Amino acid sequence: MRIAVTGTPGTGKTTATERLASKLEERDAAESSADFDVIHLNTVLEDEALYTEVDADRQSKVADLDALAAWLEGREDTIVESHLAHHFDADRVAVLRCAPEPLEKRLLERGETEAKAAENAESEALDVILAEAVDEHGLESIYEIDTTDRTPDAVAAELAAVVTGDREPSAGDADFVGYLT
Ligand code: ADP
Repeated sequence: MRIAVTGTPGTGKTTATERLASKLEERDAAESSADFDVIHLNTVLEDEALYTEVDADRQSKVADLDALAAWLEGREDTIVESHLAHHFDADRVAVLRCAPEPLEKRLLERGETEAKAAENAESEALDVILAEAVDEHGLESIYEIDTTDRTPDAVAAELAAVVTGDREPSAGDADFVGYLT
């Protein structure tokens, strides 16, 4: 079973999946259930140099999706976290969302440039990653989670419900298009 956790940068994927990892470890210790590994794919991209080029203007690396797919192959029971995670095979795809204004604020507080924060806020308002995820996996595999007014622990608990099958698929509840007007 592979669970993808995707979403626009700043939606809280890294934070929530770190907490999810410790929740799952506690669960695994309590029950003898499947042992899930959390993979932070952007770290793998850096550590294994799985990119095709460095975009100097945008200060980012262009991911080598084929090399990342090959790296992921054969890894069972994984939670794959990245804004790219929906580009790979997955049984369930959690899409984290955040209203554009607080998203922009989160990114600025994290030290991103104003241009990058604004670009990501606009992309979130346009549902870009949700639309890509639905396109690639179909509505029945999508679990949209609005993180706007929720703590990282609450988001991690909802992700745990996706992993255990206690959460129904859903998409389209977050409506952030008003940000653009
Ligand atoms: P991503 O991995 O999706 O880019 P991060 O986990 O790095 O996002 O979170 C982006 C920023 O927002 C961090 O500074 C983090 O502390 C903060 N953050 C993460 N989750 C939440 C949340 N649920 N509510 C408020 N702030 C959050």
